Amino acid sequence: MDLISLLQPFIPSWTSAELLLTYFGYLAIFGSFLPGKIVAGATLPDATHLNYSCNGLLQLFLLVLLLAAGVAAGLVSSTAIADRGLELLSATLIFSIVVTLLLYVTGRVSRHQGSSLKPHVSGNLIHDWWFGIQLNPQFMGIDLKFFFVRAGMLGWLLINLSVLAKSIEDGSLNRSMVLYQLFCTFYILDYFFHEEFMTSTWDIIAERLGFMLVFGDLVWIPFTFSIQGWWLLKNNVELTTAAVVANCIVFLMGYRIFRGANKQKHVFKKNPKSLIWGRPPKVIGGKLLASGYWGIARHCNYLGDLLLALSFSLPCGISSPVPYFYPIYLLILLIWRERRDEARCAEKYKDIWAEYCKVVPWRILPYVY
Ligand code: NDP
Repeated sequence: MDLISLLQPFIPSWTSAELLLTYFGYLAIFGSFLPGKIVAGATLPDATHLNYSCNGLLQLFLLVLLLAAGVAAGLVSSTAIADRGLELLSATLIFSIVVTLLLYVTGRVSRHQGSSLKPHVSGNLIHDWWFGIQLNPQFMGIDLKFFFVRAGMLGWLLINLSVLAKSIEDGSLNRSMVLYQLFCTFYILDYFFHEEFMTSTWDIIAERLGFMLVFGDLVWIPFTFSIQGWWLLKNNVELTTAAVVANCIVFLMGYRIFRGANKQKHVFKKNPKSLIWGRPPKVIGGKLLASGYWGIARHCNYLGDLLLALSFSLPCGISSPVPYFYPIYLLILLIWRERRDEARCAEKYKDIWAEYCKVVPWRILPYVY
């Protein structure tokens, strides 16, 4: 096979460009006027804060409803995404590169104009392009960071639904695909149900918007998180009932830890006196929560996320490492992220952080790491 025919499936057609732009257009237009809880973001370096409209769940339901109506009316094919996976991947990648270049240019311009948010410019082109210059770039009143992560999570659901439609169409639907779909759909719905928690995460409060985040949100989340679904389209796995039960237990444990830990921190930040597991919280230096999940490990939320990621792959059995790409990648990412977050917290909280590390010595998994 020559290089041209190898690359052929990656060449974006006009249809994939249209699909992508319609999708972003829908998110931008409906995101700005659909009602949603307004959540105040973290305080910015200039002492102001941004307001986020958390209407992602409504956008999700409306989009799925519109697509279902479109499929029923014969206007759009339910397998449109599954039929064009690779060209949509490259179209999204091109879009991400263009957006990052624009962010780079506007970041430099706003630096010269003395933006109130003081964009960070290192002077190194590659560094600034990769890690970004601006903390909270806006476009027509839309916070791009919040917008892109929403686009990625919703995109993951759309890919999964299209893959599900494809498996029904080609008659390959089985227990594995159903489990994978159920777990991911629950996770994504839950994410949007708790979308306001996103406003206090590291990505939103501390990370600048460069290629790393744009690519991570728009390309990585939807296309690599769905690898298991694509893999199940081509590979038949027969799961025993015991395997299904074990898989559900891993999912439920992961969900409980992941959601519980993130919720405890969020509630604590809003009101440091809120009860944790029915008891007054143990607080270090008046700022750091050291009870509940945050008393078990300093990033127990990462442990929950890792178990969830594993549960998305277990429906694929153990015949191939390919469906385990996501949990393996997440393990590497979260260990790296935990190290970066530790360094940031050590600098920000100084002695209080050192005290917290003494009280809670484990980083992610007690007695292991
Ligand atoms: P966290 O939500 O854990 O936020 C870290 C921040 O929380 C710290 O910088 C600090 O910020 C604050 N903090 C840390 N410890 C304490 C404490 N004991 N008490 C009070 N505040 C504390 O990190 P992330 O934003 O990285 O992750 C959020 C979620 O997103 C996680 O569940 C993670 O698993 C998930 N995630 C998923 C990814 C995926 O690809 N699936 C990728 C990345 C994250 P402050 O300065 O505000 O105090």
